[in-house]
Amino acid sequence: MSDITKLIRTIPNYPKDGIMFRDITTLLKDPKGFQTTINMLVEKYKNTDIDYIAGIEARGFILGAALAYALNKGFIPVRKKGKLPGKTITQSYDLEYGSDTIEIHEDSFASGSKILLIDDLIATGGTAIGAITLIEKAGGTIVETAFVVDLPELGGAKKIQNLGHKVFCLCS
Ligand code: IMP
Repeated sequence: MSDITKLIRTIPNYPKDGIMFRDITTLLKDPKGFQTTINMLVEKYKNTDIDYIAGIEARGFILGAALAYALNKGFIPVRKKGKLPGKTITQSYDLEYGSDTIEIHEDSFASGSKILLIDDLIATGGTAIGAITLIEKAGGTIVETAFVVDLPELGGAKKIQNLGHKVFCLCS
């Protein structure tokens, strides 16, 4: 497996003091790095029974759209509240400070569709668990959740596994 970690930079004190922000823009702008990232995900999921890739706004769109194209699957955007034009299903979730709301179109997929959920990074797991809850509320089945970066000390991946879902991360 190619080492993509050296292409991910760390920005100290962003978005606030004490946070070490893992920034994948440096990975995305590197042609080989971006291609390797998507290729590793394609290898992992090319023989998995999936109907759709759902990506969480915003970096999950970049990864999820590229992966959906490569796997010849449809892409479903999980958006922040107020961005989708049609009728939506909504889910709120807790952040470290406060809460946020995400949504999908209520006709995004047929009930029982098999969904791979993707985002750039899992930290506390709040965002991904919100998206899992939302997709299940809409009648979807989560096949697996995938991330480029896991921050294991924040426990999000464990929480998702404890809910009975699979978690795949390219690096931690
Ligand atoms: P969680 O909800 O605590 O797991 O945080 C994950 C969400 O916040 C994902 O949508 C990430 O894109 C974003 N996030 C949190 N920390 C970072 C980071 O260090 N780098 C990039 N994104 C982050």
